[in-house]
Amino acid sequence: MKEIILVKFGEMALKGQNKSSFEDALFRQIKYRLKNIGNFRYSSAQSTIYIEPLEESTDLDEVITILSKVFGIASICRACVCEKDFADIQARTLAYLREQLEDADSFKIEAKRADKKFPMKSPEICRELGSAVCEAFPELTVDVHNPEMTIIVEIRDTGAYVHAGRIKGAGGLPLGTSGKAMLLLSGGIDSPVAGYMIAKRGVIISAIHFVSPPYTSERARLKVEQLCEKMTDYCGDIKFYCVPFTEIQEQLRRRCPEEFFTILMRRIMMIIAQEIAKKENAIALVTGESIGQVASQTLPAMVCTDAVCHMPVFRPMIGMDKTEIIEIARKIDTFDISIQPYEDCCTVFTPRHPKIRPQLDAIEAAQEAGDFSEMIAKAVADTELKVFRVNNHNSYL
Ligand code: ATP
Ligand code: MG
Repeated sequence: MKEIILVKFGEMALKGQNKSSFEDALFRQIKYRLKNIGNFRYSSAQSTIYIEPLEESTDLDEVITILSKVFGIASICRACVCEKDFADIQARTLAYLREQLEDADSFKIEAKRADKKFPMKSPEICRELGSAVCEAFPELTVDVHNPEMTIIVEIRDTGAYVHAGRIKGAGGLPLGTSGKAMLLLSGGIDSPVAGYMIAKRGVIISAIHFVSPPYTSERARLKVEQLCEKMTDYCGDIKFYCVPFTEIQEQLRRRCPEEFFTILMRRIMMIIAQEIAKKENAIALVTGESIGQVASQTLPAMVCTDAVCHMPVFRPMIGMDKTEIIEIARKIDTFDISIQPYEDCCTVFTPRHPKIRPQLDAIEAAQEAGDFSEMIAKAVADTELKVFRVNNHNSYL
């Protein structure tokens, strides 16, 4: 039986004049993600993209798994293609949904007749098809309020389709419709979630990570690369910048008061991240900070950090509790990687008594005395780039 995937637009269906550019971006993403899965014929009509596999052997379960992580999609249906003829719709419904109908106790039918030329109206389709189902599966009962299974018949201009319900899509806006941002990615739980949240709004994410060998291990860096690779499922291809931070941290320890370490380190991270963002045409920074979570995330500490920033810093987790963040981390499958116990450069140089209410002028004076400019330029120059691509084709540049 011929099957098709119907992809329904999310929020972008509401866009006015820009709709076609959103649609193009979604098409591009879908085609790119499915490139290695099979050959498909694509078309679109009435806020729906039709994806027809050209070979029988295509694994449609895999197609759906991939599509469920593409932003811009509200829902996905795997449907049987029927003739626009009630007898054909009836015969195919009974055959296509046989297994599910055998397992269910109750059902209902929903019919959507977008093609008004089809001779039967929706209530009539429901009634006729309902009685055919009851006849073929006598143990099944009709339950219009709380059915175990809903059979949906869609009569569209392009054809007639039968399926057993929608799978929820990832929502949001298609990648590439909202510009680029640079994510400060640590090995922790929060920053991958922050990247996911911003990418969900259509922003292309690049990632920057700071390492301090030998204080931080190769294994710790690999963990962050693993996170990056996992994030490509949702965020698409990610350019990953790895910044050598050891010299700067050693200089900090030599020249600056210990209680300022964390805040100065974060300011220098922001300075470097902005330099690299500029080269990337990224116009904002993203972090996983949440108010009060640790000493560097108090409001006054963030004010001191932002004082070195000339681009906006987005912190999508700012008002969230750890449990809420963990829930998303589990959903996007980064949690198990994040909880692997490897050190981060932030934790290696954590002061015993960090300043919770730092004064900006004192911080600025300490940074001045530290004389970091040349080291910052060197760290930027020595930054390594690696690209993580969807479908696991990683490459070094
Ligand atoms: P996360 O779970 O994201 O690591 P956290 O609770 O451990 O967050 P911090 O270690 O204070 O908090 O880091 C706050 C934010 O700073 C992180 O969310 C991330 O955006 C950024 N960050 C921290 N360490 C690094 C690093 N080594 N490289 C890049 N960014 C970092
Ligand atoms: Mg961390």
